[in-house]
Amino acid sequence: MTKKQRSTLIRIIVSTLLLAALWAASGALASAMTALGAPVPAAALIRLALYMIPYIIIGHDVIRKAFKGIKNRQPMDESLLMCIATMGAAILAFYEDMTGSVGEYEEAIAVMLFYQTGEWFQSVAVGKSRRNISELMDIRPDHATIMTDGKAEQVDPDEVAIGSEIIVNPGEKVPIDGIVTEGTSSLDTAALTGESLPRNIGIGDEVISGCINLTSPLTIRTTKEFGESTVSKILDLVENASSRKSRSENFITKFARIYTPVVVYSAVALAVLPPVARMLFLSTDPAWGTFIYRALSFLVISCPCALVVSIPLSFFAGIGGASHAGILVKGSNYLETLSEADTVVFDKTGTLTKGSFEVDAVHLSPLSEEELIKTVALAESASSHPISVSLKKACKKEPDLSRVSNIEEIAGHGIKAVVDGKNVAVGNTRLMVDVGARYVECPDDAGTVIHVAIDGDYAGHIVISDVIKPDSAAAIQHLRSSGIKRIVMLTGDASKIADSVAKTLGISEVHPELLPQDKVQWVDDAITGRGAEKGRLAFAGDGINDAPVLSRADIGIAMGAMGSDAAIEAADVVLMDDNPLRIADAIGIAKMTLRIVKENIVFAIGIKLLCLLLSALGIAGMWLAVFADVGVMVLCVLNAMRALITTKSVA
Ligand code: ADP
Ligand code: MG
Repeated sequence: MTKKQRSTLIRIIVSTLLLAALWAASGALASAMTALGAPVPAAALIRLALYMIPYIIIGHDVIRKAFKGIKNRQPMDESLLMCIATMGAAILAFYEDMTGSVGEYEEAIAVMLFYQTGEWFQSVAVGKSRRNISELMDIRPDHATIMTDGKAEQVDPDEVAIGSEIIVNPGEKVPIDGIVTEGTSSLDTAALTGESLPRNIGIGDEVISGCINLTSPLTIRTTKEFGESTVSKILDLVENASSRKSRSENFITKFARIYTPVVVYSAVALAVLPPVARMLFLSTDPAWGTFIYRALSFLVISCPCALVVSIPLSFFAGIGGASHAGILVKGSNYLETLSEADTVVFDKTGTLTKGSFEVDAVHLSPLSEEELIKTVALAESASSHPISVSLKKACKKEPDLSRVSNIEEIAGHGIKAVVDGKNVAVGNTRLMVDVGARYVECPDDAGTVIHVAIDGDYAGHIVISDVIKPDSAAAIQHLRSSGIKRIVMLTGDASKIADSVAKTLGISEVHPELLPQDKVQWVDDAITGRGAEKGRLAFAGDGINDAPVLSRADIGIAMGAMGSDAAIEAADVVLMDDNPLRIADAIGIAKMTLRIVKENIVFAIGIKLLCLLLSALGIAGMWLAVFADVGVMVLCVLNAMRALITTKSVA
């Protein structure tokens, strides 16, 4: 609990006790006044002064806020509504005192009291979901330790250059992305991926910032600047998430802007028109007091707090719950779109498969197997494509980069480069056709075939194979059972492999051999082809060659751990643990959040209309009104908090 929340709680308790005491003593007070023979105005003033004590204790900040609103020329907010209503009720009570009967001050104070209780409750709830998100925020490192002249020195992570060696002691956060050069340890990645099992790492392993080093000291050579590191990227995402508003939230803001003035004018009409009508047409007592009182209750009830508060809170909780499961959602609007998804389109490599290929065979090469792989690794030296990363790994030796120049990566085709003065082309059959090499089909149909041509002459091929992620099949099943109608796989790979992966996973619609621009075209056609029909298309990819598709889809989902920075930027949702099962989880969370939002809208507006009607007719007084209002708000807030509770599905 924050200091402000604690002090508000104390104010609530103190003023409740004072109010109870005054209420209990009011009889005694009245007889004492009569006994002392105090004149009516004096007695009324004394009562006013006494009741103002709890009123000011509980309401002073609301009154201040209302005045501030008037000063800033934006008076139509709930603080003003509260002030008009409670002060109006107090003035009515004073007026009744002055005319010799006993006014009900309790009501004015109780209204303020309930209102503050509701506000308090809401701020505690917001704090809870904010804490959930700031657990993620907690990944921000405060320093990096570098070695200067054999001495450890703590510096701002911002000041560490790429390629520096940093030391991360047990218990510390890894401040910057890098590669382990010394030590073995285990890392807690929970804040990033929601994965509770620690990960073992050793020399040569990549580590991403934001993980916590658990067991022993590590030396890490940084591969990125702090600003480009995972931790900074994620923090940017989370910090910007709440600024992207959903349609429901925008609706509420607009709604409140029209609603509040309408309510205020209706209240004025309710206070003035019936008495005037009674005087003019019925010639009876205008009953000003009754109607002013009804107008005031009307004002109290009309406060749209439950809606205004609970809807952003629901989205906020949904985003918080998702991040708890290792799913970063960049804004409320994306939760809304995700909840409407009925088509999920997958990229194959790196998304449904691990994207870490093993070399299975080398065929037909005039070079030795080792020499061919070395040449290929040199040509691939600058690429971050999963194929390229795997081929580099297959070449055990550290490449001599001075042997290679003029590297050109052609998306969906492969690589052209000059190695030892020769033009080397590494890629698929399309690339071979491009360079005019007479390639040979591989009889082996187990994997992806990487053809190699040297100076336009065919030099053989390397067969590499990828592994399907263990959870991919379950991910497809979960999507089907969660109501996704169409599941599609797009890939730049050959149709043989594409078909076999699709068959294993139970995907019936496959489009192979697509260039990156073909994928964009396909998604574009699928979205425009649907026209005004309902439903949204989600695209899940690893972002190598598919960042444009990620941004074209209604909603782009990127693999965060292996995906490229471009993908994380282009995507709307980022899966921290690269597990395709999280897509169904994300859709589930989105649907649940939207369901909660709808429940809250219907419930809050329904109760509100009912109470407004009852108060206009004089059936419900201010007590019931406030009680209903605070009750609705508390229920809506509690309902919103359900979005925080998320479970991760397992295969
Ligand atoms: P996917 O859609 O499966 O993610 P890409 O569009 O990235 O595939 O690549 C399609 C095909 O292009 C690959 O299967 C491979 O044959 C070839 N290719 C792409 N990049 C490279 C590379 N760096 N080295 C060799 N071949 C490549
Ligand atoms: Mg890909």
